[in-house]
Amino acid sequence: MSEIKIYQGNQIGGCVTLISTEVAGITHRIMIDYGSSLPGSDTAEDFEYPWEDEPVDAVFFTHYHGDHVGRLMEIPANVPIYMGNTARKVMINIQTALSKINKEEETANHKEALEILNNHARIHTFKWNGHYYNHIKEIPGFKIEPYSVDHSAYDAYMFLIEADDTKYPNGKRVILHTGDFRGHGWRGKAMLPVIQSYVHKKGRKVNSLIIEGTMMSRMDEEVKTETEMMYEAAKYLKEHKYAFLICSSTNLDSLASFYQAAQMASVPFGRYLYIYNSYYKEQLKTFSATAGGFSEVYQFKNVHELDLTRDLKANKWKKSLTQKELMEKTGFLAIIKPEEWCEKYIEPFVQDYKDGKIDQMPVIIYSMWDGYIKEYREEANGSLVENKTKNQAWIDFLKKQEEKRVEIKHLHTSGHASPQMLAEVIKAVAPTDEIYPMHTEHPEMFKELDIGEFAIKLWRYENE
Ligand SMILES: [Zn+2]
Repeated sequence: MSEIKIYQGNQIGGCVTLISTEVAGITHRIMIDYGSSLPGSDTAEDFEYPWEDEPVDAVFFTHYHGDHVGRLMEIPANVPIYMGNTARKVMINIQTALSKINKEEETANHKEALEILNNHARIHTFKWNGHYYNHIKEIPGFKIEPYSVDHSAYDAYMFLIEADDTKYPNGKRVILHTGDFRGHGWRGKAMLPVIQSYVHKKGRKVNSLIIEGTMMSRMDEEVKTETEMMYEAAKYLKEHKYAFLICSSTNLDSLASFYQAAQMASVPFGRYLYIYNSYYKEQLKTFSATAGGFSEVYQFKNVHELDLTRDLKANKWKKSLTQKELMEKTGFLAIIKPEEWCEKYIEPFVQDYKDGKIDQMPVIIYSMWDGYIKEYREEANGSLVENKTKNQAWIDFLKKQEEKRVEIKHLHTSGHASPQMLAEVIKAVAPTDEIYPMHTEHPEMFKELDIGEFAIKLWRYENE
């Protein structure tokens, strides 16, 4: 007998899946993701998993976002952890940076997380064999096949799981867990062919589909492809020589879109990318060295840390230039955070424009979810309520820039599948038994999708 349990499935973030089966009278379990609820979500406190009573053989992480890996440290030390190799590196970069921040208690926490991530006896990474990632067969009662998916986190996976269960043909229940995914990023076109060639290999049928549904509550959000966003950004950057960018350090696809746009906008020499700290530089280096090996789109070649007063020298120049002078001469794309301390990067350009030293005002491209910077949220009945996911400091910072007449350009695309993509995936997977929606505030809306007769299982999630 096999069983699927989902904790906190009816919210975006912090969803945890448990799949169990029995071998010779003993129950074996795998857990998929163990992350924290997002700030502003309705679950004030995350559920406690009963590690003692319902022990887990292994935890599999779909990707490195905090709502999927955030509770890493709570996993008992004897439980092995499986994840992507680049995902592990990205997490190491994050924890290394955080462990350097001087807050005694937290520093210790981040150092402990680093120890876990660096422990090769405990962390197992998926191994690419030239065609696909090796299947994981060492957990009794299970075979797990990881397949790369397109998401705003790089190195994200879905898992095809065969669990021993005599009720199913050949004694195996086939379960597909999509994790977070989408179809409109740089690698989105691969999803349906992977389902056709690998999931359905030799006529294999999927019995149960566990699928994310983030966008079911964000129906009005525009979903443009990364390619469309890149061309839009290139056009905008052509008109704006001095551009700041607000974009997550781990959103590789969008970073690539903007970096490529900046190169297209400044023919023939391209445009330098400036970033606000060495942590950010490290992430870009990691991405260039890993993803960059698969595609040139992911190579970041000219990246410099922001330090406007730094003196720069080059043989061909008559005199040395400060970084700011070079930036004014050649134009730039500079990544900042929407926080007060980044004022020091923007203000000098605003001043120079006012003083007639440059002929354009700087602009800011905001490429993150709008939910962070909206004061209010519209309820289904049309009334406005306070937006719980907002970041007041960010809102204040952006307001201040607008008051100075710095234009804020919103250019963002979702990390999650559009309802149309969800329908396409469901039809391609064609589960024989049931669909379990997760990572969604509106599981019931899956019934509205154009998918024909598939059974949607709307059960009570474990924490309800
Ligand atoms: Zn995610």
